[in-house]
This record gives sequence, structure tokens and C-alpha cells, in this order.
Amino acid sequence: MITPAQIEKLRIVSYPDPILRKRCQPIETFGERLQALTDRMLDLMHAHRGVGLAAPQVGLPYRIFVWNPTGEREHDAVFINPVLSNLVGQEAGEEGCLSIDGVTVDVKRATSVDVAAHNPAGEKIHLQGEGLVARIWQHETDHLDGRLILDYQSAAEEIANRRQLKELEAKYKAQQTPSRRGRRSARR
Ligand code: ZN
Repeated sequence: MITPAQIEKLRIVSYPDPILRKRCQPIETFGERLQALTDRMLDLMHAHRGVGLAAPQVGLPYRIFVWNPTGEREHDAVFINPVLSNLVGQEAGEEGCLSIDGVTVDVKRATSVDVAAHNPAGEKIHLQGEGLVARIWQHETDHLDGRLILDYQSAAEEIANRRQLKELEAKYKAQQTPSRRGRRSARR
């Protein structure tokens, strides 16, 4: 699905890259290549001090996310083809997103969630999560369905975030400039 050279080059993509709005496809082939990809995603997540990172955020339309609520390497975790169920309770909390720098939104999430998923080796995982962990799972699962924290903005947040979103849009547009120079700088 993806070569080691491509894995090495992965970087976090930013709003409004259209990949962030795609509904992602399930993984059907497990094993070493998938492990290498998720290792790289975990490295990127830690480098940007995130608690979760979904495959579309590195430009790949697959149902994969990595997560770690503490930042301690021993808590690194990977979900392939995750399915959430038993969403219970509701709590508002501020969320940011590694793909939408400088924007925060107050999002209501279930406080307790069950997940069924696979690890990169293809083994089944069943877990229950609460609080921050449940929030991370819901935020990252949203990414796999093309949903972003922007979709939860209140009218006041839309106004507060408008300027930063315009800046991200301008930055993205500049990177898409079809001149050789623009394309080369976008790859850095
Ligand atoms: Zn996000």
C-alpha cells in the first residue's frame, strides 16, 4: 500500500487539504509494512506533541489512528479499522487538532466509549475508554469519516477562528501554486 521511502516522507497535512474531508477505507492487509507506517505516525504525533493522529492527517485515506494520552512511549497505541460503540455520557471539552494549527473548539463528547479494532499485526483489540481517552478516540474516529472539530463550532467560535482559518487557507493555496518554485518549496 505504501513504500518505506514514502513512509519516510510522510508529514502532517493541514486544513483545508481535501484529504481531511474524505471518508477513509478499511485496511485489509496487516503486517510489517503497516507496523512501519504506524511507527512513523507515532513519531510524527510525538514530534508535534499531539495525543492522537489519524492517517488522513498524513495524507493517507485509511482507517488508522495512533494515540497516546500521556506522551510516555510505553502508552503508544494503534487502532486499525476502529469501531466505536456504547457511547455513554456527555461532557464538553476544548479540543485542538494537529491539522488545524491555532484553532480550538469546545466539543461535547461521550465520557465512556467501547472500541473494537485491530493492531498492525491483525490481532483483535477490545477496550473501554473514559474521559480523555474516550475523547481522543472520538476525535480520531471523526477524522476517519472526514469530520473535523470545525464542524462543532458555535457561532461565536466561528467568528473567533475565522481569521486563523483564512490564514491556513491562504498558506495552503500558496503551497498549491503551480510554479516549479512553489511546488518545490511545498515539499520541504
Ligand atoms: Zn485532529
